[in-house]
Parts: sequence; C-alpha cells; structure tokens
Amino acid sequence: MFALEWLPPLPSVAGHILDGALLTILVSPILYLFLFRPLTAHIAALRQAQDLLRQQRDHLEEEVRHRTAELVERNREIVDREVHYRAVVEGASEGILTLDEQGLVVRNNMAAEKIFGFAPGKMAGMPLAQMLTPDSAKRCLGSDGLFYPVSGLSLEAQNKNGGIIPILLSVSAFRHENIRYHTAIIQDVSERVMFEKRLARLAYYDSLTGLPNRRLFHDRLGQAIERARRDGELVGILFLDLDHFKDINDTLGHLFGDLLLQETAKRLSNLLRKEDTVARLGGDEFTVILEGISDVADAEDVAKKILHSIGQPFKLGEHERYVTSSIGITLYPLDDSNIERLIMNADGAMYQAKLNGRNAYALYTPKILSKTMERVALEASFRKAVKAADFLLQYQPEFVLHYQPEVDRYSGEVVGAEALIRWQHPEFGLLGPIQFIPLAEATGLIVQLGEWVLRTACKQAVAWRKAGLPPFHVAVNISALQLKNHEIVAQVARILEETGMEGRYLELELTESMVLDKNEGLIAILRDFKEMGITISIDDFGTGHSSLANLQLLPVDKVKIDISFVRNVTRNEHDAAIVDGIIEMAHKLGLKVVAEGVETEEQQAYLLEHHCDILQGYHLSRPMAAGDFEALLVNLVETTPLKSSS
Ligand code: C2E
Ligand code: CA
Ligand code: CA
Repeated sequence: MFALEWLPPLPSVAGHILDGALLTILVSPILYLFLFRPLTAHIAALRQAQDLLRQQRDHLEEEVRHRTAELVERNREIVDREVHYRAVVEGASEGILTLDEQGLVVRNNMAAEKIFGFAPGKMAGMPLAQMLTPDSAKRCLGSDGLFYPVSGLSLEAQNKNGGIIPILLSVSAFRHENIRYHTAIIQDVSERVMFEKRLARLAYYDSLTGLPNRRLFHDRLGQAIERARRDGELVGILFLDLDHFKDINDTLGHLFGDLLLQETAKRLSNLLRKEDTVARLGGDEFTVILEGISDVADAEDVAKKILHSIGQPFKLGEHERYVTSSIGITLYPLDDSNIERLIMNADGAMYQAKLNGRNAYALYTPKILSKTMERVALEASFRKAVKAADFLLQYQPEFVLHYQPEVDRYSGEVVGAEALIRWQHPEFGLLGPIQFIPLAEATGLIVQLGEWVLRTACKQAVAWRKAGLPPFHVAVNISALQLKNHEIVAQVARILEETGMEGRYLELELTESMVLDKNEGLIAILRDFKEMGITISIDDFGTGHSSLANLQLLPVDKVKIDISFVRNVTRNEHDAAIVDGIIEMAHKLGLKVVAEGVETEEQQAYLLEHHCDILQGYHLSRPMAAGDFEALLVNLVETTPLKSSS
C-alpha cells in the first residue's frame, strides 16, 4: 500500500483523455512495477505459507493419530499384563500373600484362603505369623516379629480350625512408595508328606498283615531297651513261629497260607496291650516286644496266652485248620543287653521250643545256640577249626583266702585254675564257649574238642610244675556227651600218661544236671576217675534242684555254687538261704564248697563269713591266658608265703 503515495498530481480536463491514454501507458508499468508485482509476490508468499501450514497440520494430525493408536495399544498391553498377572496369582496353587509393615495380610489369592480355610476376602488384615504353629513362627520371624526373607522353609501352619498343615514358606521383601512390604508364598505339602508317610509305611510295615516289619521291630526294640534302661524295667522279647506252616501252604496253597498269617497277626494284636509291639519278620515268623514287665513270669504268661490263642481253630475260607506255634523268650537285661544278641537269643529259644516238641515256649538259656550265627556255616567252620585247633584255653584262678591278723587283710592262695575254652574265629573274633559248645554237642564234635581241652590243660599244668610253680588243681569242664560212653576213662588215662600229668592235680567239673540220674554207668566212670586220683566237682550247683543228699551216693569232692545264687547273695534272702544251706550241707557231707562268679567285695565278705572254702570270680581274677596266669602266680609267691594245696 505504501506505493500509492508515490503517484504524481493529475493535469487539466482538456487534455484529459489524451493525457489519460498517455497516462495509462506511462503509469501502467509503474503500477505494475510498484503495485501488482509486489502484490502477486505477496499473494504467492501467502499461498506458500498457507501450504506450509496445511502440511504442518496434516503432519500434526498424523502424529496425533499415531500417538493415540500407540496409547491404545499400550493400554491394551497393560490391561493384558494385569489380567495375566491376576490370572497367574489367582490360578496359582500356592498361597500368595502381600503383607504390610506389620506383617498383616494386605492382599492374598484364593489358594491362600483355601489353604487356611477362610472364606473369600476374609484374610485381609490378619497377621500371617499367627497362622503358623508357635515353633514354626519362631523359625521364620526376626526379633522384630517380622518375617525375614527365606526360600522354601519347611514349616507347619495352622488352619482356621486348628488343623496342622505342613507347608513350604518363601518370603521376599519389596518397597513401594517408601513402604516396606513382604510377599509370602506358601506351598501346602500335605499331600507330599502323606505320600512320604505312605512310602515310610511300605518301608516299615509288612504289607500282608499291616504289622511292623523287621526294620521297625528293630527300631522299637532299641527304644524299648532305652526306656527300660532308664526306668530299671525288663523288656521281654518273644519269637513266634507257626508249627508246620509249610504244610498249610503246600496243601491249601499260598492264598490260604496268607489268610492264616493275617489271622495270626490279628490274634496276636488283639491279645497284647497297646504299648506292646507285634511284628512280622517274614514268612511265618512273628516277634513281640513286651515293655514294662517285672518278671520272667509275665513274659511266660503272654507266651501261654499266645499258644492258647493260636491253638484255636482257624477258619480259612471253607477250610478249618488247627495250627500250633513255638515261642522263644528272652529278657533284657537279664539275658543280654545287646539288641542283636537278644534277637539271637529269642530266636535260639524258639528253636529250642521246636526241639522240645513244638506247641511250647522256651526261655533263653545260655546253652541255646543262636540260629543267627548261621548254624550251618558255623558248623562248617567249626569242623575246620577243630582240625586246625583254632582254639585256646584261658585259666581262671580259684582262691582260698587266708586272714592275716597282723595287717587285718586276706591273702589269696591259688588252689586251682579252671580251664575255659575260647575259639579264635577268623571272622567273629574270640568267641566264648556259650556260642559254640552247644554246636559242638549237637554235632558230636565235643568229644574231639573235649579231648583237645584235656590234653592242652594237662600239658600246661605239667609245664607250670616244671617251671617251679606251687602245685594247684587244673580243672576241666566236661560235657554230658563226653560222659555218655566209658571211652572217656581210657581217654583220660591216656592223656595223663602222655603228658606226664599226675591225676591228683586234675579236676573234672560235671554239671549238676549231668549227675541227676545216677545210673550205674556214670557211677562206674566216676569211680574210675577217683581211682586215678582225679578230683570231681559238681558245677552250676543249685540249678538242677537236686538235693545234696543225692550227692552222697556219688564219689564227688566239691560243689560249685552256681553264679546265679552268688550274684544275689547279698541282695536276696532266698538266694542267701540257698547259699547258706549248700555250704552247711556240703560240709556235713565232707565236700568242699566253691563259689563261682564272685563279683563284689560284699559277696566275698558274705561268703567268707559263711565259711565258703574257695572263691572264684571277676572280683578276684578274670580268666586269663596261660602266660598271664603264670605271672600272677609268680607275683603271689613273691609277696605271700603260700601253703601248698592239698
Ligand atoms: P562255667 O563252667 O560255669 O564257667 C564259669 C563261667 O563264668 C565262665 O564263662 C567264666 O568266664 C565266667 N565267670 C567267671 N567269673 C565270673 C564273674 O565273676 N562274673 C561273671 N558274670 N562271669 C564269670 P565262660 O568262659 O564263658 O564259660 C561258659 C561256660 O562254658 C562254662 O560255664 C562251661 O559250662 C562252658 N565251658 C567252658 N569251657 C569249656 C570246655 O572246655 N568244655 C566244656 N564242655 N564246656 C566248657
Ligand atoms: Ca565250670
Ligand atoms: Ca557255672
């Protein structure tokens, strides 16, 4: 617009038209130059600007559209993710809970409610710690009463009704808007625990009868022994075996055999108290553990009841069968205190009951050989041992005690040495006679073994005499089987001759039961021994319930009071009376009295006071190797003037 101000002033009207044309010609370029050209340029610029704006707008619109689409997409993703997480949390089988700073439940999933037995929405605000058993809470809470981070801790929770649930707990912490939260994940492992229990049942129970199996029996026996040791009580162990079970299996078939075993298990369980254990070891072998009994008689009563109960007819399907059983009994701690040996004892006693004619029980006695030692294997190695002479003798001294008034003490004089056999077994180590003498007797090898003992003991006695030791008896235990034939007399005579042993230093110990039936043969043998100058003593006296008067008819010199009476002589009036009676009567009959198994000062004092002649037992000396015995004697000779024995 500024260009209009530059126009020149107009001339007169006369020359108006001419001037007009001229003017037009003149002005036009000017107009063009000063008016149109800038105007069109301006318009073009405007257009351009307008285009630019439009482009920008389009671009912006595109941008907005794009952003909106993006937002929608992102939103959908968020919703998806939320749904996903929600589904994961809600669908989880683990209880998932968020706890606030006080350990209260802020949020939880359905599984948590299910585990704890709450209705939906009812867990909020509850303290999780109180849903654990006190013991478990202690294990996962810090001193501030808050959970510390754990992973898979095995605990016990308590549901709403007080039921105990085994769980695995994992806890982690996180912060949100400066507040500390915990996430707890709880896995209910009841089923797994139940499964494990089922597995354990399989491992510890017999599947046929549901009774404890051998393994559990072992565990229970160990526990029973522990309790009995603490409370000073007895434990009875019964081994039961059905007589001729194989016949039932063979004639009726295994199905009926199984029925019989199940019925037997039922009868045994019904018969016993809750605290007793009945177990099936396998086959037709059952065991019973009796706790809290005070007497052998208690165990015997149970055995009698069992025999009676098993003796009642069994209904096996359409069949009716009569079955009997054999029972072995052993008692902790009277017979042994070692589990393995107790089991062996009861088994051995059961075997004895079978030998006694079945449908019976037998108490363990040390004479019974344990089956567990594998009779057959033992027999084979025993035969070998007899050949290889894998045996040795130990000697246990017998003493006469002399009172020394000057020093107010007793001095011991060794008047005898009892030879006791041991087997140096390649696997089992040094075995005592209880473990193999019954086998030697059962196999007849005792005759050979007995001869070896006699010869070895005689050789040793002669060696001691030659070494200048004061004279004393060497006593040898003789088994019943050795006495069965008269051969023994010739055998002894031969050995005395061979070894140069004088008969008057040899003593033979026969048990009371061996001389109970005084047959002519036995009396003749004993007389022959006497003629050789040999001393005869009656071992284990008191156990065979024979009267001393019976001995009068036999050529015997000594009685050895059984260890079982000596053990209780200061504690039990009855046993003391028996000991007193034996000493008194024996002296009247002109017999010497030996007390075996003297273990305490009190027993020794009692026996001396009651004029027992000779004492033997751990209190004075244990059995020992020949070399040690010699050393003991040399020592005694040096410290006390010894009188020679008669
Ligand atoms: P036994 O003839 O009554 O022998 C005494 C047993 O009591 C021995 O056991 C001895 O070691 C043990 N004893 C000794 N003093 C004490 C004590 O103070 N306390 C306790 N608790 N025990 C004591 P061992 O040597 O085990 O002999 C056991 C049985 O084996 C003997 O009883 C005997 O009957 C038999 N025996 C041993 N050697 C032979 C043998 O050569 N031939 C035969 N046929 N039998 C033998
Ligand atoms: Ca003896
Ligand atoms: Ca004895």
